[in-house]
Amino acid sequence: MGKKIYFTVGPSQVYPTIQKHVLKALKEDVASLSHRGSGFKQLYKELTANLKGLLNIPQDYGVFFVSSALEGMERTILGCVEKTSLHIITGSFGSSWFKYASQLNKKPLKIVTNPGEGIDLKTLKVPKEAEMICITQNDTSTGVALPMQDIHNLKLNNPKKLIAIDVVSSVPYPEIDFSKIDITFFSVQKGFGLPAGLGVMVVSPQALEKAGALLRKGISIGSYHSLINLSEKFKDFQTPETPNVLNIYLFNQVLKDMLKIGIKKIRKETDQKAKLMYDFFESHKEFEPFVKDPAYRSQTTLVIDVKGRTKQLREKLAKKGFDIGVGYGEQKENHIRLGNFPSHKLADVKKMLSLI
Ligand SMILES: *Cc1c(COP(=O)(O)O)cnc(C)c1O
Repeated sequence: MGKKIYFTVGPSQVYPTIQKHVLKALKEDVASLSHRGSGFKQLYKELTANLKGLLNIPQDYGVFFVSSALEGMERTILGCVEKTSLHIITGSFGSSWFKYASQLNKKPLKIVTNPGEGIDLKTLKVPKEAEMICITQNDTSTGVALPMQDIHNLKLNNPKKLIAIDVVSSVPYPEIDFSKIDITFFSVQKGFGLPAGLGVMVVSPQALEKAGALLRKGISIGSYHSLINLSEKFKDFQTPETPNVLNIYLFNQVLKDMLKIGIKKIRKETDQKAKLMYDFFESHKEFEPFVKDPAYRSQTTLVIDVKGRTKQLREKLAKKGFDIGVGYGEQKENHIRLGNFPSHKLADVKKMLSLI
C-alpha cells in the first residue's frame, strides 16, 4: 500500500518533519526520560516558551497538558463554574461541551444556531447568572467558525465573565488576543499534525483565581488534573501524572519548525489554500460549501455539501492516494470534510481538487 495524503479533519496528515523527529527522539532516548528529572523540566520549559512565542501568549498564563481536548472541556467546567455556564453551540462539539457541564451537575445555558449558521456575538445578551461563556471557535462537525474579533469584543462587553474557547481544529490559525480569553484548549492531532493523545490548556490567572475560590468554598474542582494542581506543578515545569513525554517532545520540535517558518506565513498559506477550495466549490455545478455566509466559514476544516455523493468521491480519491473526511453524524453520506492545516501543501490541494 502506497503512502496516502490525509485531508481528513483529525487525525490528519502528520507534519512533514514528524518522521525525522520520531527517529531523533528514539536516538536520544526521550521515551526513557523520567518526568521528574531535569531533562523533562527543560523540555516543558522550552515548549512553554515556544508555544507562547508562536501564539503570542502572555507570560503569566499557564500551559497545562491533559489527555485530550475533551478532557479540556471537563477541566474548564469543573475548574471555573460553580453553577452556570453559557454555551454558544454551532455544532456537535459545542453540544458535547454543554452535555458534559450538565453531567457535572452544573446548570448550563445554551444558544444553539441552525446547522451551518454562525451567530452575531456583538449583539449577544449574556444572562447575569452565567459565570463563563464557552465557545467552540471552530466546530469541526459543521465547518462553522466564529471570528476571533467577535469573541474578543464579547469579553470587552462582558468583562466580568470568564471566556473559554475550543480551538482544537483551528489552532494555530486564529489570531487570539489571549488577554481577552481565560481558557483556550486544543488537541495536537489536527492543526499541529502530531500523533493523537495529548491535549493542551492555556489558562489565565483569572481562571486560576476562580478555581481557587471554588476550592475554598468546598466545591470539587477535580482531583489530580484540577486546574490548581496542574498550575502548582507547572510552576516547576512538572505534571501531576506521568505524561505523554514522547508526544510532548514531538510537539516542541514542531513548534520550533513553525517558529522558523513564521506564524504570519502559516496563516497566509492557510488563507490561500482555503480560498482555492472555497472558490472551487462555490463555482461547482453541483457541490457547495455547507456554510453559506462566508463570514462564518472555517478556514481550516471545510465542510462541503456533495449531495449524497460522499462515498463515491471518497472511493475515487482513495484510488489516487487521497483520504478525505466523511460528513459528521447524520450528514455522513451528504458532506465531505476537508482539513486545511499547516501540513497540507498547496500543490496537494490543487491535485486533490482536480480529481473532484
Ligand atoms: C476533535 C475535536 C475535539 C475532540 O478532540 P479529542 O482529541 O478527541 O479530545 C473537540 N473539539 C473540536 C472542535 C474538535 O474538532
